[in-house]
Amino acid sequence: MSSPYQWLEKSLETIHQASWYRSVQIVETDGGPLVTLQGRSLINFASNDYLGLAGDERLKAAAIAAIRECGTGSTGSRLISGHRKLHQDLEMAIANLKGTQDALVFSSGYLANLGSISALVGSKDLILGDKYNHSSLKNGARLSGATVLDYLHNDWPSLKTSLELKRSLYRRCLILSESVFSMDGDICPLPELVDLAEEFDCMLLIDEAHATGVIGKTGAGSLEHWGYRGRDIIQVGTLSKALGSLGGYVAGSHSLIDYLKNRAATWIYTTGLSPADTAAALEAIKILQDEPQRLDDLWQNVAYLKAGLAQLKIKLLPGDSPIFPLVVPDAATALKLAQHLRDGGIFAPAIRPPTVPTSRLRISLMATHQRVHLDRLCEVLDDFYGKQ
Ligand SMILES: *Cc1c(COP(=O)(O)O)cnc(C)c1O
Repeated sequence: MSSPYQWLEKSLETIHQASWYRSVQIVETDGGPLVTLQGRSLINFASNDYLGLAGDERLKAAAIAAIRECGTGSTGSRLISGHRKLHQDLEMAIANLKGTQDALVFSSGYLANLGSISALVGSKDLILGDKYNHSSLKNGARLSGATVLDYLHNDWPSLKTSLELKRSLYRRCLILSESVFSMDGDICPLPELVDLAEEFDCMLLIDEAHATGVIGKTGAGSLEHWGYRGRDIIQVGTLSKALGSLGGYVAGSHSLIDYLKNRAATWIYTTGLSPADTAAALEAIKILQDEPQRLDDLWQNVAYLKAGLAQLKIKLLPGDSPIFPLVVPDAATALKLAQHLRDGGIFAPAIRPPTVPTSRLRISLMATHQRVHLDRLCEVLDDFYGKQ
């Protein structure tokens, strides 16, 4: 008997054969730099909790207090059911951090990208995006119905060529880039993108998922890093990485935010962020601003690991962020390295196609990692490369 679902098994088999198969593991953790996996304690280099806030007692307390006061659910979309003062407070805190007039909180960063991109452009318009952009930027572009062209990764001359050839054929144009690339750890050339956006009358949307709470003098992100605060750039980001909670946001002008409240389907037709997530993110922004030491700790760890890996002559992709992609020749080697690390007490993911074009092992650092953790990582890596 044939079944219309038979193809599923075949597809899974193909995925296995390419060493692309993925599955989820149960880990136990309180949010610190250690996780327990199958009864073994491992040092966690697989987390985007860059400031170590997801396990912070103050975030937990803020979330619990919000649940006591407001309940567990937001019970409906904000336009229909109203929102809590917490939502407004968080949006003001984000706008203040980002140096924008206003901000809007979505249920996730993914939804913030889908909703804002598809609201800003349509079938008469053009989107130019970095080739390595995150799935949420690419799918937002697709959903918008605009013509979508990729430019080469961080290569502004390639973007300029496309603008010269194509810009005049379309009504509006939107340039999309991550500021700190999630799987490569490098930083987009924001000044060049801003100049091109100006020259060719384009909107510019920057995805700050791995930049907020990470780069810039006070952790405000890439605009602060480049001295571009106050420029008319659309900033999208997440509350789920350095801010240790869940949710996403768009920060920009009053008119942008007002427009999105009326046109972004992934905000209008979905339930508001839960009180607990909202309160935790608000507390995280407060801590980021009150305790600059956390950001210093993170960057000291980055410098320490960079020096350690350089000494071992371990090949990295270029970049300056808490994301360290270790180059490996293929997906099978990436898996072998991940397993070797796990045997040595280290939890770090192999990242393979289709997430990235070339396989790698992705190490991400937290402010709460200690020197012994970084030393151990270098030791186990040295052992692997020594045996190659
Ligand atoms: C994680 C991530 C997102 C999505 O954020 P979530 O809040 O986890 O949905 C968007 N863009 C980039 C670049 C990311 O890394």
